[in-house]
Amino acid sequence: GDFAQEVDTLVIGAGPGGYVAAIRAAQLGQKVTLVEKGNVGGVCLNVGCIPSKALIQAGHRAHLAKSSADMGIETSDVKINFEKVQTWKDSIVQKLTGGVSALLKGNKVEVIQGEAYFSGEDSVKIMDEKNSSTYKFKHCIIATGSTPIEIPTFKYKGRVIDSTGALALKEIPKKMIVIGGGYIGIELTGVYANLGTEVVVLEGSKQILPGFEKQMAKLVEKKLKKNGVSFHTEAMAKGVEQTDEGVKVTVDVKGETKEIEADYVLVTVGRKPNTEEIGLEGIGVEMDERGLVKVDKQCRTSVKNIFAIGDIVAGPALAHKASYEAKVAAEAISGEPSEVDYLAIPAVCFSEPEIATVGYTEKEAKEAGYDVKAAKFPFAANGRALSLNDAEGFMKLVTRKSDGLIVGAQIVGPSASDMIAELGLAIEAGMTAEDVALTIHAHPSLGEITMEAAEVAMGTPIHTM
Ligand code: FAD
Repeated sequence: GDFAQEVDTLVIGAGPGGYVAAIRAAQLGQKVTLVEKGNVGGVCLNVGCIPSKALIQAGHRAHLAKSSADMGIETSDVKINFEKVQTWKDSIVQKLTGGVSALLKGNKVEVIQGEAYFSGEDSVKIMDEKNSSTYKFKHCIIATGSTPIEIPTFKYKGRVIDSTGALALKEIPKKMIVIGGGYIGIELTGVYANLGTEVVVLEGSKQILPGFEKQMAKLVEKKLKKNGVSFHTEAMAKGVEQTDEGVKVTVDVKGETKEIEADYVLVTVGRKPNTEEIGLEGIGVEMDERGLVKVDKQCRTSVKNIFAIGDIVAGPALAHKASYEAKVAAEAISGEPSEVDYLAIPAVCFSEPEIATVGYTEKEAKEAGYDVKAAKFPFAANGRALSLNDAEGFMKLVTRKSDGLIVGAQIVGPSASDMIAELGLAIEAGMTAEDVALTIHAHPSLGEITMEAAEVAMGTPIHTM
């Protein structure tokens, strides 16, 4: 039958946006139903952040095993059992998604397996393999995430793979072409280069990692080149021929046509929001020309009881941004005055070395009308970095000239992803370079780089001139 079930807050999609929204809404006393058509955890836990970081670590270990002779660690025959690597990676995903399911249960969130489609401003149809049922809601949070963009001449099939395919390969390719040098492409390039694959990166613009500062991207490029990766920038991939054994890609590099053969071609040219097939037009939820849902500072759409978060709204498509918006939306539904403020959202590329940024770059700060200076401190002047045998990189701290207010920071170097947290806090709390410089950091630690960059900003560094 089709009697509508009634729920308070309905959340669509159980990625880092949706599951966090569901938990926060439940914590605030809302009765929550969460609909997911695939797996709890969404892209991030199943085919994104987590499995990619697991494979990055496996690649890193393999590479270290082969390349620590300068420290006196000599190995002869390093073998990679890739099947076991994949099983280990899958076990990490299972642990995390199992943990999320337990949290949802513990918070009394009802989880429904099925695909949601809006049938009205306060109702959805949920379809599973057999049935379709109608749910009426008071509030809804849409968190349907995103999907890899497909280049029409590179249909995902067989040896033409997307990031999900690249995370699930059963063999280590001898040679792989990567189309798109954004952070996802570069992270996966690092994985396979470390595992011994010859990787060729084709990037359309002049620089890989166009979202990050050129000097930082250059350092990553240099390290990857040392590891056998080759790069073609201003390269437009035209088409692909596929056989059982491999692919032949035609590419236009600065006006010259080339053909490159490989075992696989991985296409990572961006992601598109999953807003096409959920009935949003029919109920008047406004979107922009890219299909991103328009929202206000509380993540409320043009339909006032419907909220949207994560990869389907504007801003960086990152898991922590989705989770941040999730809390704001759930709190807004409970009548709290929460609002988003994106300044202190970090972005990280888990390359080697890692790149991390938060707040403004020097250029962005100037464009935003701030009178700033940038203070730089190298990893090579830090004892901990040297003793890690990993001392390439630097930190840049962007401060307001008048009072030293920290408005941004960029790091390229080992553990940049963890180090950026302190600077996110500094920005969030309105701290100055002096606040950070006066904070005692343990010796020897990479954290001292942050303290010393703050001292550079103040003109009184100890370990650099
Ligand atoms: P998603 O995680 O995409 O979840 C959406 C969920 O909604 C999916 O489970 C989907 O099945 C479900 N769904 C869709 N439509 C319906 C429907 N109609 N009914 C029911 N359910 C539906 N971000 C980082 O911050 N750090 C990283 O290191 C990082 N690494 C990444 C690596 C890779 C390879 C990829 C692909 C992405 C990575 N990301 C990373 C990005 C991150 O995964 C996304 O930003 C994040 O998952 C977005 O969360 P979300 O909740 O908006 O959507």
